[in-house]
Amino acid sequence: MLLELSTTIAVSCSACGRLSTDEINIFQLSGGTVHQLKCSSCGAKKVSIKRTKKGYIQIDYFCLLCSSIHKKIVSPKKFWHSDRVTPLLCKETGLNLGYFGSTEMIKSELQRQKEELNMMADELGFEDFVNPELMLEVLDYLHDIAAEGRLNCECGSHDINIELFNDRLELRCNNCEAYIDISVKTRDDLTELKKEGRVHLHSLKGKPHNSRDPWINI
Ligand SMILES: [Zn+2]
Ligand SMILES: [Zn+2]
Ligand SMILES: [Zn+2]
Repeated sequence: MLLELSTTIAVSCSACGRLSTDEINIFQLSGGTVHQLKCSSCGAKKVSIKRTKKGYIQIDYFCLLCSSIHKKIVSPKKFWHSDRVTPLLCKETGLNLGYFGSTEMIKSELQRQKEELNMMADELGFEDFVNPELMLEVLDYLHDIAAEGRLNCECGSHDINIELFNDRLELRCNNCEAYIDISVKTRDDLTELKKEGRVHLHSLKGKPHNSRDPWINI
């Protein structure tokens, strides 16, 4: 019998938002060692993993969305040998911060997500954006929170349109005049948005901008 002795964790950094992967092998958790994972781009602590006294695996992960630490305890079998990817969720918002699973499974999960984003980019015609990759990530995030019911308007409506511009996007309520501008220039814009964990449109008096760019309805 061949034992798979390593597991890969892919999780977003709570400080800079970047998703990166780390491979952990079973020996790194031996003898009560706490194994720390740090962000490869900013150095912030992301995850700590240890074995509990009863032999379970405890994963503590810093959360980008609610700025706290969430804890997940799983059996060694689930950690080292699961046949599917296990999500690491924010317990406040229910949104996904990352996954763990075999290196192969994590690779194909990330590949699948990338393909989804690329398809969206093709459909929308993305050459015009200042930072196309970031625009996609912002859209992906907005889709996620919309699916969770965390994108809504003061008037109670969830029927929100997105209008894309080259370095920002505008969300507008289909039911009232409310709209909000979201800057999409730097990675900080996305980090800020994720820290909010939701988007709430306020009914402001004022004229919406002219529509020039593609609209998508989420
Ligand atoms: Zn980071
Ligand atoms: Zn959280
Ligand atoms: Zn509204």
